[in-house]
Amino acid sequence: MARLSMHDRLPYDEATTPPRVSTGDLPDPADVQRVVTEAFHLYQANADGVVADYIPALAAASPDLFGISVVGARGRSFEIGDVDTPFSIQSVSKPFVFALVCEAEGYDSARQHLGVNSTGFPFNSLMAVELNDARTMNPLVNAGAIATTSLVPGTTAEEKFEHVRDGLSRFAGRELSMSEDVYASEAGSNMRNHGIAHLLNSYGRLYFDPDAATDVYTRQCSLEVTVHDLAAMGATLANGGVNPESGDRVIAASVCRRVLAVMATAGLYELSGDWLYEIGVPGKSGVSGGIVTVAPGKGGLATFSPPLDPAGNSVRGQLVTKYLAERIGLNLFASEARPTLS
Ligand code: GLU
Repeated sequence: MARLSMHDRLPYDEATTPPRVSTGDLPDPADVQRVVTEAFHLYQANADGVVADYIPALAAASPDLFGISVVGARGRSFEIGDVDTPFSIQSVSKPFVFALVCEAEGYDSARQHLGVNSTGFPFNSLMAVELNDARTMNPLVNAGAIATTSLVPGTTAEEKFEHVRDGLSRFAGRELSMSEDVYASEAGSNMRNHGIAHLLNSYGRLYFDPDAATDVYTRQCSLEVTVHDLAAMGATLANGGVNPESGDRVIAASVCRRVLAVMATAGLYELSGDWLYEIGVPGKSGVSGGIVTVAPGKGGLATFSPPLDPAGNSVRGQLVTKYLAERIGLNLFASEARPTLS
């Protein structure tokens, strides 16, 4: 008998037999807004963490910037603080570009090209490439992310970047554009990322010219978003791939849940396990201070606050997300015992 593995397809077509889901709804809208406001005031005075400065343009961000946005799966939003301030998306782009690649080439093939397990190493680790035979471990750390970008449809760097820009704009529900300042600053200081790309190329695990792939990746990281955009992007992943504000289907539901699985295992750098243990929801953070969190079926939550912990995760963002996950019921692992039958 042929050996079966968890990677095999189910014995029916997921597209025509959609899976049942295990999720509920957000609480009453007035309660969500109240708890979002509470979280903002509770953590506004927190002064822990350091603004990233390894990309010179990021060092200029004010540590006081702070915004929270929740976009529900029905398209309602609940927000407070600096919700209109643009910032570069940085690593928060990674799951969304992975989603576009899965959509284009299929999630099985994307897993084979990129991997979906966590590395346990910092986001820009070369050691993780050397120590793992598959070289790329997942699409959310730099090695896997640059490889993901190299797989984006398009025969030129321009076409690939336009595919990314257009796809991320559809996730956000508005046209996104790049910050020229952040791009110039990062392009002048990202030799390590070029090194990672060349190393992957030497192992046959990069799928486009290494310098061109790194350049598209750098432009992708320089796309500007607001915290509302990130929440809408998260809400699209929470809503089976359809942006609840625009009604646009960006990716298939079957892709959506694979993207969330990777965010759950690898979204918060080397603290991803701690995040899942404490907060219990897929998330992705970036060094400019954004975190997007997705509560499947319920909505997307985004926070923006530049000061970071040593792993690169926004300090206030983690505190707010933990508070909201408990108060509005986002933790995927939470259950309560039912009354026992007597
Ligand atoms: N563009 C940044 C880099 O590759 C992204 C880092 C991040 O947000 O984790 O260094």
